[in-house]
Amino acid sequence: MRERDIQPILDRALSGERLTADDCAALLESNDIARMGVAADEIRKRWHADNIVTYIIDRNVNYTNVCNVVCTFCAFYRRPGKPDTYVTTLEQIFGKIDETIALGGTGVLMQGGLHPDFGIEWYEDLLRTLHMKYPNFQLHCFSPPEIHNIHLISKLDYETILARLKEAGLYSLPGGGAEILDDEVRKRVSTKCTTAEWLSVMRAVHRVGLRSTATMMFGIGDSIVHRVRHLERIRDLQDETGGFTAFIPWTFQRENTALGRKIKDEPTGIDYLKMLSVSRIFLDNIENFQSSWLTQGLRLGQVALRFGANDMGSIMIEENVVSAAGAHNRADERMLRYLIREAGFRPQQRDILYRHVNREEISKIDENDSSQLRELSVLIAD
Ligand code: SF4
Repeated sequence: MRERDIQPILDRALSGERLTADDCAALLESNDIARMGVAADEIRKRWHADNIVTYIIDRNVNYTNVCNVVCTFCAFYRRPGKPDTYVTTLEQIFGKIDETIALGGTGVLMQGGLHPDFGIEWYEDLLRTLHMKYPNFQLHCFSPPEIHNIHLISKLDYETILARLKEAGLYSLPGGGAEILDDEVRKRVSTKCTTAEWLSVMRAVHRVGLRSTATMMFGIGDSIVHRVRHLERIRDLQDETGGFTAFIPWTFQRENTALGRKIKDEPTGIDYLKMLSVSRIFLDNIENFQSSWLTQGLRLGQVALRFGANDMGSIMIEENVVSAAGAHNRADERMLRYLIREAGFRPQQRDILYRHVNREEISKIDENDSSQLRELSVLIAD
């Protein structure tokens, strides 16, 4: 069968017309990723005419691996009562935050399993303690499944929970736990919150005046129809609340997971670039798109900057969840800045709300002599 010409769809998007679900499906069915990349790059440029690509210095803290539900795509969780479970102590979290601040970091992304004993007070105490000790440090914590778990334990509605957590020091919410926002897929791979519950938590987040990111993990048995529904649901909620700061798609990492042993096809780098560029084109109401170099590798993460991404995400001082499933890529600030410059952009540190952060020592980081440049390109190639 001859492939459909997608240029008329891309031209409509470039002229400012909103694409339909059918248009989105046609793009995802096409293999013409070069044209999609050009269109996504043009749209990125309209949002970000300053030629800047941002990144953040923060740290993932996974405060517990105890989890009450089962997700077959997850290699991180441990059932309650198993010998290798943990809950991070406050002293350990202080140490991790101190280390992040020493590297010029502005915040922490804290997420964990769904602990059966942690009600609202546990989270309030944790946030209050951290906020008192580090008042200017941004606490970007707890994805919708964790908020839903608090709702089940403490019998409070989402808005009450989020208003209380905001009061205790919560700064913003990560958009994790979305995977594919369609219950046909979710129910097959997870017993965590449903699509409607994930969206309701995010609606409540935005209603109490907090902002969040939105994510997508694809390649877990989802078809193009499911991916389109996911994007539509994110776009609809963003029309309603305007609370999403960014969209972050990535591919399922299969190592050490039950699902990985079952699924034969895994998304390729080409699938990733297609998903990213189509997201940029279809989600016409979201400003920032993150490159997932952690799952795709540094080189493909750099290429993503020409397929709609305007942000390299975090330097990932620590990451435990996707690395448990096989994503072992690593970078530091120097490497991210080098990759951004090499792709023709100006690197800029940002905070969790995408505001620029300027540190004095940054100019020194960019002073690479030729031997340092050689060292960096070898490190990145590895
Ligand atoms: S993805 Fe999250 S909710 Fe699912 S098993 Fe892993 S830790 Fe638990």
